[in-house]
Amino acid sequence: MSLLVQKFGGTSVADIDHIKNVARRVKRTWKQGHKVVVVVSARAGVTNKLISRAAAITKSPDPREMDVLMSTGEQETIALLAMTLQTMGVPAVSRTGPRFGIRTDCNHTRARIHELGGADTRKLLRQGKVVVVAGFQGLSEDGEITTFGRGGSDLSAIVVAGALKAERCQIFTDVDGVYTADPRIVPDAHKLNELSYDEMLELASSGSKVMQTRAVGFAQKHNVTFEVCSSFNNKPGTIVKKTAPSLESVSVSGVAIDKNQVRISVQNLPDRPGAAAGVFKAMAEIGVVVDLIVQNLGHGGKANLTFSVPSTDAYRAEKVLREKVSKSGAKVGRSTKIAKISVVGVGMRSHSGVASCFFDALAEAGINMLMISTSEIKISVAVNPEHGDEATRVAHAAFGLDKKRSKKKKASARRSRSKASK
Ligand code: ADP
Ligand code: ASP
Ligand code: MG
Repeated sequence: MSLLVQKFGGTSVADIDHIKNVARRVKRTWKQGHKVVVVVSARAGVTNKLISRAAAITKSPDPREMDVLMSTGEQETIALLAMTLQTMGVPAVSRTGPRFGIRTDCNHTRARIHELGGADTRKLLRQGKVVVVAGFQGLSEDGEITTFGRGGSDLSAIVVAGALKAERCQIFTDVDGVYTADPRIVPDAHKLNELSYDEMLELASSGSKVMQTRAVGFAQKHNVTFEVCSSFNNKPGTIVKKTAPSLESVSVSGVAIDKNQVRISVQNLPDRPGAAAGVFKAMAEIGVVVDLIVQNLGHGGKANLTFSVPSTDAYRAEKVLREKVSKSGAKVGRSTKIAKISVVGVGMRSHSGVASCFFDALAEAGINMLMISTSEIKISVAVNPEHGDEATRVAHAAFGLDKKRSKKKKASARRSRSKASK
């Protein structure tokens, strides 16, 4: 009997009807003779609502209390799903993250998982029980409840699948796989059958929220193959694994947009070694991840530095910077929203001209680039937020990723293959 881990995200458990749908799917798997561990998120919108309640009280809530608050969303879902399964004749039992044995460090709201106890899980599974686990939460060394960052139920599922050596880890969501771009923004995007960890990691870290970045990183490190598929149909999804050689032949395999970034400018920074390092050290000390960076050529011994950070960290970042740089006479500007568009593909390693194709396409559409960064398999640009969606569509089309064009491309590749074999 194989062990399957099935994770259902917020939209898949949005209300009682959706929870019943999930329960029917879980029951089918269990009836087929599999051992099943189910990981669930909070119902759609619940975590956001909890966060906005805290925001109505204070701009910088105590992270410990935030974890106590946010973890309640998943706790509601496990109870409702376990009850629903029980009424369908499935012996289900719910487990909060702490009770399931997920142990973490003490870093509230972004805790790292240390180990998975799971002492009684195997026993429950041997008894034929379906174990319904709350995603997104664990227990710190101090005995406190912790959470793993937004989208963290993905991480819970991957960690549970890895630790229990599950045969399959299925991430059920509201799209039927990973697409070449967010299908809500690019209607012509097409589903990818397979994707390498590297590409999934770059897409996720560039804003494709279909999988949490940390979850993909963990899957890669521990070699946990997973499938992203729909909870609303039975179509095959996208398999994410170590290598997906079929994609090497294309330069770009996907386009991502991140609308949750702001840019912060520090003006009149002393133009000498160590000044920029001081700014980024200050960010690192408060755990803020800096992404795109632009430094202007210095004039009169002064330089301007601009960089992007997640919008959720903007308030803390600005506050700390003001305290740090005010002594040197530098000025911290108000953070402004940006959209970051990234084109991603392992094929970039062997294809040249990706940057020029990307930048040309944006220029032709009259979209101005504010910042740029490149890596071996990714190029990102920041644009004004109002141009974000259009820039995504433009980039997607420029690399021939549109549904119709990719079908044409495949057909012409088939034709040339069959010619070659004649
Ligand atoms: P869940 O609640 O199941 O965790 P999420 O909302 O976190 O689901 O992620 C699914 C969403 O990710 C989709 O509805 C889609 O809009 C978005 N998305 C962004 N980029 C992509 C992509 N490349 N492929 C598929 N979905 C994507
Ligand atoms: N409920 C959490 C969130 O909304 C975790 C998750 O859904 O994966 O971020
Ligand atoms: Mg998610």
